[in-house]
Amino acid sequence: MIYLDHNATTPVDPAVAERMAWFLREHFGNPSSIYPIGRKVKELMNEARERVAGSLGVDRGEIFFTGSGTESDNFAIFGTFDAAPEKNEFVTSAIEHPAVIEAAKALEKRGVKVTYLPVDKYGTVGLDDFRSALTPKTGLVSVMHANNEIGTIQPIDEIVRIAHERDVPVHTDAVQSFGKIDLDARKLGIDFLTVSAHKIYGPKGIGALYIRRGANICPFVRGGRQERGLRAGTENTAGIVGFGEAVRVLEEKGRKERSRIEKLAETLKRGVEENIPSARFNGHPENRVKSTLNFAFPGIEAEAILLALATKEIYVSTGSACSEESEEVSHVLQAIGLKPEIARSSIRMSLGRSNAKEDIAVVLRELPEIIKKLRAITAFHPES
Ligand SMILES: *Cc1c(COP(=O)(O)O)cnc(C)c1O
Repeated sequence: MIYLDHNATTPVDPAVAERMAWFLREHFGNPSSIYPIGRKVKELMNEARERVAGSLGVDRGEIFFTGSGTESDNFAIFGTFDAAPEKNEFVTSAIEHPAVIEAAKALEKRGVKVTYLPVDKYGTVGLDDFRSALTPKTGLVSVMHANNEIGTIQPIDEIVRIAHERDVPVHTDAVQSFGKIDLDARKLGIDFLTVSAHKIYGPKGIGALYIRRGANICPFVRGGRQERGLRAGTENTAGIVGFGEAVRVLEEKGRKERSRIEKLAETLKRGVEENIPSARFNGHPENRVKSTLNFAFPGIEAEAILLALATKEIYVSTGSACSEESEEVSHVLQAIGLKPEIARSSIRMSLGRSNAKEDIAVVLRELPEIIKKLRAITAFHPES
């Protein structure tokens, strides 16, 4: 199998699986208990918290574990507006993950005015648009760091600088940039930052929210005193330990792997462009997470390409998990100005640790053949 969908999820690193299995076998204590088996779990959890914090350049006390990247996004957004009810405007972008877009829609129903910043043809937010969207009523800005469908990286340092000039807090969804580009939350000066374990070869169902010390936020899940009272519920201890191990592995082999994967992606990109002249690249040519490749094949339905590749055990996606099962067109591809029929012809290939050089050669052999065949059986295509 050739897995080219690492932006959807990543295979669990063997060291992570090993550590979690060990933990589940040996440590069942409740970290809130004061006797030794509880304290030991607390200690292991703190080790993991320390690792996640260290990888973001922040303190252990600023990391809050959640049930997912999605929950972290919701936590940052609702938690901030709950904490400052006098603010009733929210600024975000048109290309956010559904975890942010749907939270924004829910805020709208509560009477919050939401600005969805437009992006240019590469998927980049304009700073002038951003500046003029801020008002004294703005309670929060949430702009993602790297986009999951096209990989475009936003000028988040500039966004933080401009927002902070007006005392507006900033959240970023860094799920797709974590581990792929350099990220230092402290240096960035950001207030809230979301990460998720299963996008970095850790387990599913565990995320974290960085909350800058002193930032104004309300609890998201109410109950016990877990996560310093901000996210109640007995912790997903095995998930947390697995998350910590995934970060350890990332630091051990991350940089070397990163450049290997980026080279493979570059080879694949060039190969597609050379062998399939009708292919159109979606996203920023340079300023993006290099392992994400999104291509349109005008005149062909993406679904047909996905299925044809799947018969060869090559797994890619259309980019957005929510549009996978519906007729809906990707809001990201629409936002960069693609016509619906071009958006519907687009596939995403996201590379990662599971890929070898040979995989790319196979894809470059199969994909052009598939496109040629599909083109032949498609009644209409612009090139005819
Ligand atoms: C995957 C993803 C999420 C959601 O993370 P989960 O842990 O799957 O809930 C949020 N934002 C982005 C950009 C993602 O790629």
